[in-house]
Order: sequence, then structure tokens, then C-alpha cells
Amino acid sequence: MAIEHAADIWGSILVSDVPIKVAVSWTALGSAALGVTFPNGRKDFINAPVAATWYATSLANSLTGFELNPGEDDINIYLNSGTNWYTGTDGNTPAGQYDLVSVALHELGHGIGFVGLAKKVGSEGSFGLLQASDFAPLITTFPWPQQDTLPGIFDRFLRAPTLEMLVDVPNPSVPLGSFFTCNQLTWNGPNGLAASGGGDIRIYAPSTFALGSSCVHLNEATYPAGNPHELMTPFSSAGHSNHWPGPICIGMLRDIGWNLAPGVGMDEPAMEQQLVVFPNPVNDLLTFSRAGMGTSYPFRIVDLSGRTMLLANGTPTVDVSALAAGTYLLMGAEGKAVRFVKH
Ligand SMILES: [Zn+2]
Repeated sequence: MAIEHAADIWGSILVSDVPIKVAVSWTALGSAALGVTFPNGRKDFINAPVAATWYATSLANSLTGFELNPGEDDINIYLNSGTNWYTGTDGNTPAGQYDLVSVALHELGHGIGFVGLAKKVGSEGSFGLLQASDFAPLITTFPWPQQDTLPGIFDRFLRAPTLEMLVDVPNPSVPLGSFFTCNQLTWNGPNGLAASGGGDIRIYAPSTFALGSSCVHLNEATYPAGNPHELMTPFSSAGHSNHWPGPICIGMLRDIGWNLAPGVGMDEPAMEQQLVVFPNPVNDLLTFSRAGMGTSYPFRIVDLSGRTMLLANGTPTVDVSALAAGTYLLMGAEGKAVRFVKH
């Protein structure tokens, strides 16, 4: 139920004519991990936007318009059977429990392509040299032996502090390995940057490389718990929930090729005017932004019959706990609106 709820949230964001096949397994992952996810992968498929580049198969299927991998899962998710999970979908996660909707949303994010093929052995960094044995005993369906030292589409947007793109650095190489652990990697994709108002999007790249964590998350310290962009950071806290990926993540998914549902905040051509709200559904504090425009501008909240319920000016967060449960619209001054649900 919680996992379906997470899948429905992604379903409200992404557009695909091809159903996404997700296999979820419960297994003992020790105390370090809540979940581990591997997408299946394809490269150089029909309509592939960028050649010689790996895509999560769910994205490749969406771009091609048909199923490229019949009989194969698109996404393999392993969730820790030893974790004290909160399986409710309301986001009211009790202290000491981990919110399954939030973690499933995060893991599905990796499964649809928020993931790359970076690896570091000794001081040498590489793209496209991962092996199935790197993840044993977990079973992966990604065609690792066919990688050919090619990057994933996600990797193509990673930028070094020197402003070099990482895919332009010799692969494999020691300089590439140094960048993987420089703690200053950023994302250089136009939609992600528009969603961040042009500010740097920090990628997790700590001084010690962690396979499956480094270079495939947003930076924990930049987007801590409670930040609207926290979902795709590497660590989650107990007693906390987040049921919306946030505009930067959604912009990054647009950068790697996903088509977005109208109204999620990044649909073109009205992108720069579009409002985004999170979390949605909301219990008390509603945060909103307008891609590319920051968060300071007048707004009002109206009910579905058009009555103004709340009016405010210049704050990016509003307390809506006094509103009755139901559906409302957040409207900007110029009449752009986005729908949200109050629990
Ligand atoms: Zn993760």
C-alpha cells in the first residue's frame, strides 16, 4: 500500500505510455541501508536522445514508446526487512520508525534514472566499469558486461569544480577519481538549474567514495531533512517523511529525458511561470516555489468554488493546518494555479 502510494506519486509526475515494471524484494540489508535499487538499462535504442549512453530502461521504454525488455523487470528494489517501517501513507511517521512511502519514493527515483555508473577503485575513477559482483549477493538485471566504459545519461550532467563536465575527463583516470571525491560536484542541466533558480545543485561527492551513494544523490548537507529537495539525498531520518521529490529533482529528471505530466512544475513552455507545491498532500506547512523565479511573490489559496481561504505575500511557506481537509488551488498573482490536497 505504501509502495503503491509512492508509485502513484511518481505516476502523477512522469508521463509514459509503457507501464513501469517494478520488482520489490524484502531482504536483510544490515543496519546501514534502508533500501538498494538497480534499474535495468538500455543504450542506443530507437529515439535515444544521446548515443553511447545508458538509460534506465523505464526511461528508454518511455522515449521509445514500447517495451524494449519484455520478460525483464525495469527496476529491482531491495528493502531492508530488518528496518522498523511505518507503513501508513499519511506522512505522520512516529518517532523511531522509517517512512516506507518516503523510502520507496527515493528508491523508485533511482529506478527511473536518478543514478549513474560511477565507480572508484584505489585512486582511479570510472564510468561504465561496474560489475554484477560489486552488488552481490543482490541480484541485478542491468547488463553490466555490455557497459563498454560508457556513462549513464545522469553522469553526463555532472560538473567538476573546474567547470569541466566529468564525461569529458579521461575515463578511467585518476583525475576522474579525484573529482568523484571532491565534495564540489554540481549538476549542469538546464531544467534542474531553472528549478534551483540558477543556484548550484550540489551532488553528494564525499571525500571517501561510497559505491551506490557517491555521485548518485543530492548532497546531504545542502538539502537536509525538511528541505524541499531532500528526497534524493543519501540519508533518511526516522520519524520523518517526505512525499514529494521537489522541483530540483523533477527538473533533473526532465534533463535526463523524462516527459513530465502537465502541472508538476517543469512542463514546457510555461516552465518559468509554473508553480510547484510540496508536500502534496499536505498536513500543515505548505512550501511553494515558481521554477526559475525563487519563492518570494504574492499568492492566495482558493477552494474549488473560487473562495479565497488564505492570502499572503513574500513567504515561501504557509501554515495550512487550519484549512478543512480537501482540494485547494494555490494561485500566483498572475493567475497561474496548482492544485494540492489538504489532509
Ligand atoms: Zn539512494
